[in-house]
Amino acid sequence: MAERFAVRNISMCTKDCLCLYVCPTGATDTEDSIIDTDKCIGCGECAASCPSAAISMVNKVYPRQQDKEKSVIGALKSLIESKAKQENIAAGLGGTLGMAFEKSNRIMAEDIIREAGYMLPQSENTVRFLKSLLKAELPDDFPKDTVKKLLKLMKNKKK
Ligand code: SF4
Ligand code: SF4
Repeated sequence: MAERFAVRNISMCTKDCLCLYVCPTGATDTEDSIIDTDKCIGCGECAASCPSAAISMVNKVYPRQQDKEKSVIGALKSLIESKAKQENIAAGLGGTLGMAFEKSNRIMAEDIIREAGYMLPQSENTVRFLKSLLKAELPDDFPKDTVKKLLKLMKNKKK
């Protein structure tokens, strides 16, 4: 398997199909538009040819997340909590301005979550979070099978 593979952002794809012509393995030519990672050899030809920048090359293996001091983690958590509270308050305001506040608080919270390492596939935080979802009491239609699948796919690189 290649060290990296191609991923297509379908919402950016303008369907001119250049990637289909340049791919040496046919990995880009799929029924569901998702690039076939089993066939992809990571050459990057599709990403280079795409006029819409809809294809990114993604590493298979990432370095371990940098450690964070406890005080930094604590500050990130309280910031996330405050943004979640502000989002809820804004949701009750109504109107365009209320919606704008709601959205901006959500985006800021997501940024903080990203900074905290919760969105990195190699992050121990992410593994812990996913495991906690399996133990939590959640609605019947919560996709626990997907969580199990994600955990299986993720390689926790703790040394
Ligand atoms: S080259 Fe880019 S825009 Fe064209 S079909 Fe492929 S992904 Fe979509
Ligand atoms: S990186 Fe190369 S092999 Fe993989 S989908 Fe793109 S063109 Fe095909």
